[in-house]
Amino acid sequence: MVADKTTILVVEDEPAIVELVSFALREAGWNPVAVNNAGDAWDFIQRRLPHMILLDWMLPDQTGLRLLSRIRADRNFNELPVIMLTAKSMEEDKIAGLDNGADDYITKPFSPRELTARINALLRRKRPDHSQSMMRAGEVTLDPVSCNVSLKDQKIDIGHAEFKLLKFFLAHPDRVFSRSQLLDKVWGDHVVIEERTVDVHVLRLRKVLKEAEYLIKTVRSVGYMLSEK
Ligand code: CA
Repeated sequence: MVADKTTILVVEDEPAIVELVSFALREAGWNPVAVNNAGDAWDFIQRRLPHMILLDWMLPDQTGLRLLSRIRADRNFNELPVIMLTAKSMEEDKIAGLDNGADDYITKPFSPRELTARINALLRRKRPDHSQSMMRAGEVTLDPVSCNVSLKDQKIDIGHAEFKLLKFFLAHPDRVFSRSQLLDKVWGDHVVIEERTVDVHVLRLRKVLKEAEYLIKTVRSVGYMLSEK
């Protein structure tokens, strides 16, 4: 089975809220990882890029707003979806958060249902590859729910990395990505994997796609793209 859970980094110092939020996220099928200060959050995203951050406004070491500015100033993270959590419902806070690049903002106390609805809406908006609908190109289909990939309705065996790569390409057809972009966007971890590894996985992906390998194009001296043309 291919594990492809959406990882959500929860940056919050109040244990009761961490517990509530983590429970709600797990129930919704996501993978929550919690840290209780801005420094640990920053360290975490250097090692592993989450799909989204839930960021508390008041943290022990610095404000969530300050961390948000730092995230947005870094080109590796400026697309990362961020929802601010705040105990205050003051309009100026909301505006400051959105000005600094928050994608959305939730006022405490909130219900788990409200939280998951807002996360779902943001994931849909920011990351079309996280939608739950069938993805296809040519005679290849990928089911994001069951994680099955089929060629002419025959299920094919595919490795975890090749699955993630294919899913990313299907979500962004006809767009060329460099090896480093693929590393950032598909693996979300620029420490462990080298750019050469991308070539290896592209090679393997083409192999499992058999006659549909033509979908994955090499764009000389730039990178790779998926295209039916
Ligand atoms: Ca707090």
